[in-house]
Amino acid sequence: MSHPIPGIHHITAITGPPQPNVDFYVARLGQRLVKTTVNFDAPDTYHLYYGDTVGTPGTILTFFPFVDAGPGRNGPGMAIAVAYAVPSGDLDAWRERLAEHGIGSWQPTTRFNQRFLTFTDPDGLKLELIESDDSNASGTSSLDHGFHSVTLCVSDPAPTARVLTDLFGYEPAGQETIDGVERLRFQSPSHGRGSIVDLIRPTDRSSAIQGAGTVHHVAFRAETPERQREWRERILEYGLRPTPVIDRQYFEAIYFREPGGILFEIATDPPGFTTDETVDELGMHLKLPPQYESRRSELEGVLPPIQMPT
Ligand code: ZN
Repeated sequence: MSHPIPGIHHITAITGPPQPNVDFYVARLGQRLVKTTVNFDAPDTYHLYYGDTVGTPGTILTFFPFVDAGPGRNGPGMAIAVAYAVPSGDLDAWRERLAEHGIGSWQPTTRFNQRFLTFTDPDGLKLELIESDDSNASGTSSLDHGFHSVTLCVSDPAPTARVLTDLFGYEPAGQETIDGVERLRFQSPSHGRGSIVDLIRPTDRSSAIQGAGTVHHVAFRAETPERQREWRERILEYGLRPTPVIDRQYFEAIYFREPGGILFEIATDPPGFTTDETVDELGMHLKLPPQYESRRSELEGVLPPIQMPT
């Protein structure tokens, strides 16, 4: 494989009203709200992007806050856990910090020889902090190292595994059974940020319900627009059905459903989040793409106000 996918670009999930979501990710997890914009397909809804200082690909968790979103339920055909990498030795400080704020967190346990901590955001989205030696410089109180991995739940892991290996160029990176749940690990040869995908089978017969606290899609990186066009051709040749390239202002996107039912996206690294505001001002103002600028006053009247936690 000449150019494997290097890793995750962003992960997008669904939340209810935006304020608890902002409070949690900014005040509790130390993430930066790097872009306040609207859902380009439903502009009366926000699209909030959290990441490191500049919103580096591989650090970005985004949310569609649907004010009346009912709770979702994880199940087959969904990404069910989002894992951040933290430096080795930092996990106990994180556990204490979360516990101080009443965020239920368990004692660290181990997976693939890495200690990790599990907790949920206010909507029940499962988050993990995984100690990783790849993430150097310990002692930070933010998640600037970005993603470690994502866990996908699929009824039959084989076809999804083939997409990762035969299409994306990922390599099998081990399997482990914990509490009766077999976990298959795949990793991009980049071994960089967010380069790991884990697959597990569902643990019960419940079907998935898309709603608050569930992941909407997982976006993987294309380093350039040219590379993304190549991916689109390869996905077509593989027999899957990608959308045309869609301009998302901060990246260009194609979407396709992988055989396990999960919505995948391939998003370009450029232009990034500083394309329409300075690094200092990222996230502070409602940014609208050109097609909605003429509706600014109407949209500002509909979107609930957001207070930045101090
Ligand atoms: Zn996306």
